[in-house]
Amino acid sequence: MTGRGVPSVTLKAGREKSLAQRHPWIFSGAIERVDGEPSSGDTVAVRTHDGAVVATAAYSPSSQIRARAWAFAPAAIDAAWFAQRVRAAVDARAGMLDADHTACRLVHGESDGLPGVIADRYGDTVVVQLLSAGADRWRDAIADALVAATGATTVVERSDAEVRQLEGLPPRNEVLRGALAGSVPIREDGIAYRVDVMAGQKTGFYLDQRTSRHRVRRLAHGRSVLNAFCYTGGFTLAAIAGGARDTVSIDSSADALALARSNLAANRELASRGASWREADVFAELRRLRDEGRSFGLAILDPPKFAPTAAHAARAARAYKDINLLALKLLEPGGLLATFSCSGGVSADLFQKIVAGAALDAKVDAAIVGRFSASSDHPVALAFPEGDYLKGLLVRRSV
Ligand code: SAH
Repeated sequence: MTGRGVPSVTLKAGREKSLAQRHPWIFSGAIERVDGEPSSGDTVAVRTHDGAVVATAAYSPSSQIRARAWAFAPAAIDAAWFAQRVRAAVDARAGMLDADHTACRLVHGESDGLPGVIADRYGDTVVVQLLSAGADRWRDAIADALVAATGATTVVERSDAEVRQLEGLPPRNEVLRGALAGSVPIREDGIAYRVDVMAGQKTGFYLDQRTSRHRVRRLAHGRSVLNAFCYTGGFTLAAIAGGARDTVSIDSSADALALARSNLAANRELASRGASWREADVFAELRRLRDEGRSFGLAILDPPKFAPTAAHAARAARAYKDINLLALKLLEPGGLLATFSCSGGVSADLFQKIVAGAALDAKVDAAIVGRFSASSDHPVALAFPEGDYLKGLLVRRSV
């Protein structure tokens, strides 16, 4: 298990503190010595300077995060270990799925004790992202564990996220188990969507916004709704189901918009309302809407990650401020803005300051009347605050 011959990583004196706090990342700068020549993804024993084994981790020679802990103790990492961890994560979501809710996140990486492993359930299909060397190494065990824990008929790998480059891993998209026939049907909040699990963004659908879409649905009644960065229409369909008067939805992706339109058409009880879809850059289109003299009772801003890390925060702040300023100006008196940031590099505090600055420059009086975070199937381990990436504010413009 951790005897002689097993590769090991020995930490510099005093650098075991974050592991003691159950944070799973071991940075290259904390390592004094590597013994046994581990290759990418190999299991290593992590030792303190005094030689005590304090964790069992996956080694990643090309990443600054040189190892990620599977366990904070000596442990045998094998297929049975993955079966147990995956089952625990799946069991924690018991009760989240029913006939009207057939999609949720099953494994949320570090916060489910499985660093680098993401798994999303879309009906009978599970889509995995393997984002670290260790996760990549255990692909087969993870796929088998997901089938065993869920009874899924199909497992698809969507490992094309950029972060794999940092781990020295090539992109990989393929069907790992079963067969895939086109897009996958799901229901969220009783609304039907199709998910392009092979070519859509991330694993195909932004499950982290599930509860936010539900809240928007309840806010939309009688309002003209603007949905900027609409992707495949999630917030738009939720708003229409909630009784929106009409909707304008913007995205730069023609593929996403095509799927959004067909999602709306497939929900026949929703299809009759006025829905306009615009393939455009949001920054330019918000200005065009302003110039057209449009106004809205509810606006949603759910942009992509402008700041992956804190190093990008300044540029991201300008982008967030720009779209929030424009959206606040487009609000009717008493109108609502649901505004989000999924940037790990922008804290909730900073995001609130940016929105406050936008309101000031827009000369709009507004108040926060609610807050959003990721759905409960995206837990944030208390020891892993980096997992808390998604934040949102519900802002009401004064009458
Ligand atoms: N709210 C969506 C998810 C949004 S993801 C949901 O609930 O499903 C972000 C979206 O922004 C993507 O669809 C991407 O195509 C789009 N996008 C990124 N940059 C853009 C830009 N500058 N203008 C318009 N759309 C953009």
